[in-house]
Amino acid sequence: EPRTTPNFLRDIIAEDVRTKKYGDATIQTRFPPEPNGYLHIGHAKAICLDFGLADEVGGRTNLRFDDTNPEKEEQEYVDSIQADVRWLGFEWERLCYASDYFHQLYDWAIQLIKAGKAYVDDLTADEIRQYRGTLTEPGKNSPYRDRSVEENLDLFTRMKAGEFPDGTRVLRAKIDMASPNINMRDPIMYRILHAEHHRTGNEWCIYPMYDYAHGQSDSIEQVTHSMCTLEFADHQPLYKWFIENLGIFPSQQIEFDRLNLTYTMLSKRKLLQLVNENRVSGWDDPRMPTLNGIRRRGFTPEALRAFCGYIGATRTNGTTDIEVLEHFQRDDLNKRASRAMAVLRPLKLVITNYPEGQTEHVEVQNNPEDPTAGTRQVPFSREIYIEQDDFREVPPPKYYRLSPGKEVRLRSAYFVTAQSVVKDDAGNITEVHCTYDPASRGGNSPDGRKVKSTMHWVSAAHALTAEVRLYDKLFSKPDPYDFPEGGDLFDNLNPNSLEVITDAKLEPSLAAAKPGAPYQFERVGYFTPDPDSTADKLVFNRTLPLKDSWAK
Ligand code: ATP
Ligand code: MG
Ligand code: MG
Repeated sequence: EPRTTPNFLRDIIAEDVRTKKYGDATIQTRFPPEPNGYLHIGHAKAICLDFGLADEVGGRTNLRFDDTNPEKEEQEYVDSIQADVRWLGFEWERLCYASDYFHQLYDWAIQLIKAGKAYVDDLTADEIRQYRGTLTEPGKNSPYRDRSVEENLDLFTRMKAGEFPDGTRVLRAKIDMASPNINMRDPIMYRILHAEHHRTGNEWCIYPMYDYAHGQSDSIEQVTHSMCTLEFADHQPLYKWFIENLGIFPSQQIEFDRLNLTYTMLSKRKLLQLVNENRVSGWDDPRMPTLNGIRRRGFTPEALRAFCGYIGATRTNGTTDIEVLEHFQRDDLNKRASRAMAVLRPLKLVITNYPEGQTEHVEVQNNPEDPTAGTRQVPFSREIYIEQDDFREVPPPKYYRLSPGKEVRLRSAYFVTAQSVVKDDAGNITEVHCTYDPASRGGNSPDGRKVKSTMHWVSAAHALTAEVRLYDKLFSKPDPYDFPEGGDLFDNLNPNSLEVITDAKLEPSLAAAKPGAPYQFERVGYFTPDPDSTADKLVFNRTLPLKDSWAK
């Protein structure tokens, strides 16, 4: 796989291996999703870094569900995340859950209370916010900060026992209310929440905060390199504080740039909103940047991994053009997609000098990029479909496709010359009549005559009728968040992101196509069958049009 971009994370890991920072221990990473939504392309980047960089040095990676928010988490998400990681081509060493560590985290909280490093606070959420201060103003100590160890132990045990209602007390680390880093101003470790958890049920009514759970979970799993996105950089001192004050395995957190893509929102919360507001058909709508959405659309794990290798990782956030991802996807499909002929907007072409009722088969290459892909037999007969766009009664300048008196090649079949048109009462062309040159079978004329255009076609008598779904970008602005103040989060949704064609004509071999199998409809684009497709009603998704607007 291409590794064209410098990647400082790879360099750090290589250096730590060289200097034996962790002795002879193997490099250990983790991918830590919160199971509160489906994974998206941004997560693919994190997965490729967490799994990919560990793989390169013989290390190991855990899949860990960061399930400390019982209200937003569901088993459905846990299942989909596992499927998506495997689809990307990775296998975890261990499947872990932060909730597996609830007892250990609780014991460590007791340890910190006993050491005078944590206290129970009775301030309300609002008061805690006011006392915290601002970037320019130091915070103030809570009046409960100097409670005795005994009182703190008593109150915390009773918090756990369920004696107090939600939100009435919290456990805080006793660090420094004047710290320039707001995360260090006595951060909350536990909150009271009488909520059922998707794994621990009603066992707990206090839940650890992200900052208290994450580093310790890393440490329990002996994670050597805990890679996360840059917004956690300000949390790193706290990550270290807990580990140092508990005296446990020194996992190290390293932050890298979050993937942002033009025309795309990468945030589970916003994607959930798109689903809940019925702006899309579901998490797996092929226009969604979710992994199950783009998989349904025909994107491939190979292309995603190549893309992630190319973008690498840096220490500053930026935005990547969606065209870069599309380029890697086309590159992969160009090599692997079987070619097929499909006419999206059919116009009937009648070959008047071809025998009525006759069918012959012409041999067509399955993939000119891959000689081992072989050939297939495609039926040809007197009446065929061509694209409406491939005929002009009055051709504009430089139009080399079919027009009256012009000769073109039908791919792998014959040369044909248009002779006349048939129109309906409204003046629309309903048929084009042409003649063919029987000597040009296979697509070449023995006299060396040249034609300027080669067109795809489908035999009318043998054609399959299919629904074809053409997708465009879900948002119409490169920065989808660029809307006027007071506007709607989805103001920039592209009203034309889906076009449905109901009577496309496909060559008969496509009857056997399976969802996810990649096809290039010649001259049209890359397609794959949608899972909605049945023997009675074929449905194809356009993965991407052919044109590549981005050059490396
Ligand atoms: P979201 O805002 O979409 O919910 P998140 O960061 O809250 O994202 P998590 O489930 O916590 O989602 O993410 C798991 C891992 O994936 C984290 O390490 C996170 O940093 C990483 N990640 C999430 N989004 C991106 C992104 N756009 N680019 C790179 N990594 C990401
Ligand atoms: Mg998160
Ligand atoms: Mg989030």
